Amino acid sequence: MFYTCPSCGAINRIPDDQHNQQGQCGKCKSALFNATPVALNDTGFQRFLAKNDLPVLVDFWAEWCGPCKMMGPIFKELCAEQQHQLRFAKVNTEQAQMVSQQFGIRSIPTLILFRQGKEVDRLAGALPAPQLRQWIAAALQK
Ligand SMILES: [Zn+2]
Repeated sequence: MFYTCPSCGAINRIPDDQHNQQGQCGKCKSALFNATPVALNDTGFQRFLAKNDLPVLVDFWAEWCGPCKMMGPIFKELCAEQQHQLRFAKVNTEQAQMVSQQFGIRSIPTLILFRQGKEVDRLAGALPAPQLRQWIAAALQK
């Protein structure tokens, strides 16, 4: 399974039966599972989707958006909980305008779940942790 390092972006290959364990980046030696969503920008976005075999959940947000700020800690909490099942990433829509435009982000927060680089489901608006957990579980079944 391919898994990009959250710290340096290096592509790591983890044996499929070992991705539930803690791992270290082969290049920079930092933890591969650090319970923190990865911040993505226009340049790194496609590569991140292409080089991770786990589904990727992206939170499109902005600094000025109140509901986004409310959802930030919830997203991080779920990341710590489910980081071995999916990758959690954040896109600042003010900085990553190309990506935001490409996916037609009209309101924030918007969450998009990608599998093998393709959009599987999206959610507009913030949800409390239990409902967000349910939405993720349902989206992963699609
Ligand atoms: Zn690294």
